[in-house]
Amino acid sequence: MQKKIVAYKALPADVLSYLEAHAEVVTIDPKDADALRAALKSANGAIGASVQITPQMLEGATNLKVLSTISVGYDNFDVADLTRRGIILTHTPDVLTESTADTVFALILSSARRVVELAEWVKGGNWKASIGEAHFGVDVQGKTLGIVGLGRIGGAVARRAALGFRMNVLYTNRHPNAQAEQEYGAKRVELDELLAQSDFVCLQVPLTDETRGMIGAAQLKAMKKSAILINASRGPTVDEAALIEALQDGTILGAGLDVFEQEPLPTDSPLLAMKNVVALPHIGSATHETRHAMSRNAAENLIGALDATLTNNIVNPDVLKR
Ligand code: NAP
Repeated sequence: MQKKIVAYKALPADVLSYLEAHAEVVTIDPKDADALRAALKSANGAIGASVQITPQMLEGATNLKVLSTISVGYDNFDVADLTRRGIILTHTPDVLTESTADTVFALILSSARRVVELAEWVKGGNWKASIGEAHFGVDVQGKTLGIVGLGRIGGAVARRAALGFRMNVLYTNRHPNAQAEQEYGAKRVELDELLAQSDFVCLQVPLTDETRGMIGAAQLKAMKKSAILINASRGPTVDEAALIEALQDGTILGAGLDVFEQEPLPTDSPLLAMKNVVALPHIGSATHETRHAMSRNAAENLIGALDATLTNNIVNPDVLKR
């Protein structure tokens, strides 16, 4: 019998054709939670992104074997529950690493050099004489970058920092990253030391119970007054209310943010009124090339897992041992 796949995100035409060559594909509007829940009940697999898939949504989905997320992060899923249900979860590491690291570096450079603020100032017709100290930024090259979570993306950021900008790289991980230590001179330290020493603190951890709120008022206070916080991980790794306070009262110099506690960022967020904040609409991997590669990768993961041939990109390989 032909397999049934639910797509809860619009897919590029060639990726959709690829899936249709293997299965019947039903496309669901991700905003329609009831339709998604109903479609999952009769599906063998599903592919999509940016939707919280709760255990309740999977009740009665007895044929569901694979969920394929078009992302590397999988905090939208209850992985233990999926494993109990025997549902494989696949994700898309690697294909988005370099473009996300580019976004992180764009945030570092634009926050340090006040690129967004000053570009708006020029467009506002304010450039009437040579600029002076009031418009100066701070250097990036040669400074210390602290990476909280030096994995795939953190490693690509460290490479840019060490080899391109001659920065000193500090990092915290639960395990050492030997490659980053050897190739980029990265030094593993405790979080307290990283916060105290770094000119830029860059978060690249996954969102888990351990990392939720890991940067709060105390951690912001432990940073240098001249430091800039960069977050392109997930919004809830930072206590946003504490960050707003720290930016308002000068506890830290600025922030470059791609992710927020609530997305889209509410239009009345105080962050939007702050000149020392660069706020992006969660564009980490958002290039034409990378988003296409992610969709393709997720589609291949899904078909491979349904055919029981997939060996990588599986978040919960324990399912296969059952
Ligand atoms: P990764 O290779 O798994 O790297 C994550 C790193 O975080 C690892 O080095 C890991 O090291 C460390 N880590 C995990 N838990 C930790 C903890 N409790 N304390 C300290 N370090 C911890 O993942 P990745 O591919 O680089 O992606 C990282 C995250 O970036 C994703 O999960 C996603 O949320 C986010 N992301 C955002 C965007 C965007 O659009 N802004 C795009 C892509 C990814 P240990 O295991 O040794 O601790």
